[in-house]
Amino acid sequence: MLVSLRDDADPVVVKRELAARGLWIAAVLREQGGRELHYRIASHSALSDPQELLKIAGVRSVAVAASEHPRMDAQGPSVDVAGVRIGGPERILMCGPCSVESPEQIEAIAGRLAPLGVQFLRGGAFKPRTSPYSFQGHGGEALGWMRAAADRYGLRMVTEVLSEQDVDPVAEHADLLQIGSRNMQNFALLKRVGKTGRPVLLKRSMSATVEEWLLAGEHLLSHGAGAVVLCERGIRGFDDSTRNLLDLGAVALLSNVHRMPVIVDPSHATGRRDLILPLARAAIAAGAAGVMIETHDDPGGALSDGPQALRGDELQAVVRDLRGDVRERAR
Ligand code: PEP
Ligand code: MN
Repeated sequence: MLVSLRDDADPVVVKRELAARGLWIAAVLREQGGRELHYRIASHSALSDPQELLKIAGVRSVAVAASEHPRMDAQGPSVDVAGVRIGGPERILMCGPCSVESPEQIEAIAGRLAPLGVQFLRGGAFKPRTSPYSFQGHGGEALGWMRAAADRYGLRMVTEVLSEQDVDPVAEHADLLQIGSRNMQNFALLKRVGKTGRPVLLKRSMSATVEEWLLAGEHLLSHGAGAVVLCERGIRGFDDSTRNLLDLGAVALLSNVHRMPVIVDPSHATGRRDLILPLARAAIAAGAAGVMIETHDDPGGALSDGPQALRGDELQAVVRDLRGDVRERAR
């Protein structure tokens, strides 16, 4: 946004009025040789109405750049995924193992989640692993195991689409197609997933700005995705006390100011099971539509992400805490 001043404006007065409205000045621009003064407003400023800014004494004009993600802006605060409203008054829980390891494993976990009121069963069939020597997931056959488990217990299913060749089988089985962090800017994949017309859970890349994240969502919607739910899963920080850095500021901004559905994943964000409850609570307090939490009956024997998985009894305590806390909360 660019605020242009009249020749007779008092810059001190204008600056005070802008600050009072929560607007930061990122740059002061003076036309060469001329008297014209412009303030470029920093993007971390509060939302403001350009018409209202014109009422400030000394302001001549206000120019606003058009949004580059109009479909994301227009989507609204809540979306429907297979009959479940994400972003409505009821907070959403997406729980399950990092990887789908066997039909018995996913069935047992689904059976424990359903009575807790969890709406989505999560789990990876196609796993994006940093090392090529780590477990890569059971692939296509795990999709069938997961669908059967979800159906048996009346759960919805969310799982990752790792590559363009996985899109059809994943779209056939899952209710919500997950784009993982490492693929947030794989534009060919976004296009292919968008074309299915299905709803998508878009995880934030560990180095993406909020604007880049929204533009990735715009790619999906512009190619036909039924809906885009954002998922904050931690970004790269400088401190290794937690696996990643959970960006709750972005969650509050997107949920409360931009009114978009956001899920928070404290498991991948921190890599520590002892931080899942406090950060899940914080996510809900920041306005998140819900949380995604990894769980495993034997974290020591998990094929991936064991150190951050909650055991069944721990998950039960966390879910009870969150549901008690959030069930009646109105947005
Ligand atoms: C996952 O949710 O299974 C996963 C791999 O997460 P991320 O893409 O956030 O690392
Ligand atoms: Mn994981």
